Amino acid sequence: MGSAPRTPEWQYQLLGGRLCLDFANTVSGMRGTDARDHLTDYAALVSWGRQVGALDEARARALLARAKRQPDAAEAVFREAVALREAIHRVFRAFAEEREPVQADLDLVSGALGRALSHRRIRRGANCCALGWDEGGDDLDAMLWPVLASAAELLVSGAELSLLRICGLHETGECGWLFVDETRNHTRRWCSMKDCGNRAKARRHYQRARG
Ligand SMILES: [Zn+2]
Repeated sequence: MGSAPRTPEWQYQLLGGRLCLDFANTVSGMRGTDARDHLTDYAALVSWGRQVGALDEARARALLARAKRQPDAAEAVFREAVALREAIHRVFRAFAEEREPVQADLDLVSGALGRALSHRRIRRGANCCALGWDEGGDDLDAMLWPVLASAAELLVSGAELSLLRICGLHETGECGWLFVDETRNHTRRWCSMKDCGNRAKARRHYQRARG
């Protein structure tokens, strides 16, 4: 039996500065206008979890094996993850734009946080103890637990939340990526200078040359 050719794994860009924002940023472009979703199926969700360090190799393999045995369960977790991601994006986008988030979105994140926290564990660390998560096991949603912890931390942080930004190219409907502006003078406008920043710069040049 030959195996189907594997499509190369998508390399996720991690520019948000917080795990929950990198999760929200797995859609490139702008939702509602020109979005490209890179979280295409459960295997992609596992790949993302591995790339951000939420899953180690052994656990990623265990999850993929379980997803193979229980495709319906994996599909359900994938759909939940996407719904959660969209709620996370809407909530943080609202804060970035100084609007009130929708309560139903906050409720969704809050409910998922409660379930995730049932997997929180205290581990023996170098000095005393450290917070970790259930180790081993093959819970299909394990990569979402630290995402939810990250979302909760950012939501209650106050100061950090006030530094939340949406990429400057959202004005033209081109990019809806979110990030925490940790530059010294708080002047970061773009998710990525290399990509969106340069695109905006080139456009300003063009407009100046024309005008
Ligand atoms: Zn951008």
